[in-house]
Amino acid sequence: MRYIVDLHSHSGYAGGVGNISLAGVARTMALKGIDAFGVGDCLQPAWLEKLASLLEEREPGLHALRGAEGVEAKARFVMQTEVILTSAVASGGRKGTHTLLLFPNFRAAMAGVDLLRRWEVKLAMGRPFVKCRDAGDVAEKCSSLAAIDPAVMVIPAHVMTPQGVFGSDHPVDSLAEVYGEFAREITAVETGLSSDPALLALLPELDGKTLISNSDCHSEALNRVGREFTALEIPRPSYEEIVLAIRKRRVRYTAEFDPAEGRYFLTGHRAGLAGHGAAACWYSPDCLPPGGLCPVCGKPLTLGVLDRVLHLSKVQGGGRARQLGQTPPRQEGRTLAPLTEVLAAGLGTRSASGRKAAAFFDLVVKETGTEAELWDLSPADILARFTPLLPEKVVDALVQVRRGDFSFQPGYDGEYGRLRLGEKIGWFGHAVVEKAP
Ligand SMILES: [Zn+2]
Ligand SMILES: [Zn+2]
Repeated sequence: MRYIVDLHSHSGYAGGVGNISLAGVARTMALKGIDAFGVGDCLQPAWLEKLASLLEEREPGLHALRGAEGVEAKARFVMQTEVILTSAVASGGRKGTHTLLLFPNFRAAMAGVDLLRRWEVKLAMGRPFVKCRDAGDVAEKCSSLAAIDPAVMVIPAHVMTPQGVFGSDHPVDSLAEVYGEFAREITAVETGLSSDPALLALLPELDGKTLISNSDCHSEALNRVGREFTALEIPRPSYEEIVLAIRKRRVRYTAEFDPAEGRYFLTGHRAGLAGHGAAACWYSPDCLPPGGLCPVCGKPLTLGVLDRVLHLSKVQGGGRARQLGQTPPRQEGRTLAPLTEVLAAGLGTRSASGRKAAAFFDLVVKETGTEAELWDLSPADILARFTPLLPEKVVDALVQVRRGDFSFQPGYDGEYGRLRLGEKIGWFGHAVVEKAP
């Protein structure tokens, strides 16, 4: 069966205040077509206790909301957290590497809390910092976490963002430089919003690893939950089967943002930085300013994902950098434009969370069942089903996206890329200094 998982979120739990409602998440999951969702921050003791009161195990390792009815009863939750492993790296200084952890049940999560306590990790934050001396120590700590239960997963998170293992912050050239010997035990990495299977296919080190994709969301909003996800093939729902599918690469496809929509795709500086005022600038790899220095403020630019991927591809060997954009990915990645954004673009509004876009979202999903199923329709079907239910411009936007007739003005330095319908904006040739109006 096809089973859709989104295994990375954050509860917003810090110092006793949770911001995310699992019932709200469950309703959004039903609209988006997500079967199982990572609870986020499951090693935060107060949140873990709350989770224990909210959830009960329904299938092995999969939890449902206690006493829920209707669509809320269908949602399944997996014990999940993200930790930041900090360690000294060869390029100097200490790197903080975001790493996803999955646990098969409450008992295993509680054992994780005990380990972190023994390492004197501060647990008040939802996403704890685990201080490690060096790669050897990272390997030892990851092995200890994995030893809690054979089904515990340790997965490098959003590998290409600045806080990911391959990101621009204290850059390294291989998984082993951060994870030491444990790099060999890693069976999967998370693509993150900034990369996808086609881009990561340029990195030989990832050849044997499964690629998964998750939303990394911090809220139950429609344009957050399941904005990226992984469609697995499993015989029956259970945590164990999810883990097996990930380890054996039984992935039907990952649903991905266009990498250019990610917040760190090109190299640049966002507006509002010291010395910038309203000016922002961004550059493609073929147009970098001398020394990678910002012409506005003179400081080093925040290196983009595209530059990092091309660099890593070169140093990891295999001569794949020239295949950018033409490598058939070894794992299917479907590029999706988030429906809320498509509707906003069709309406000519900038906000994807506006009331009108939300009302149209409900209408579309009522018609198709879930957002994921909308994109299974052909362009002709979309035209037929939504005329005259939706304004013509909105139907046109849906059809354009289904046809692939869209692109993104690339994101950079924390700014998301912007959806452009009916335009093909390439990744190269950009050297832009924009003064905001
Ligand atoms: Zn993260
Ligand atoms: Zn600057």
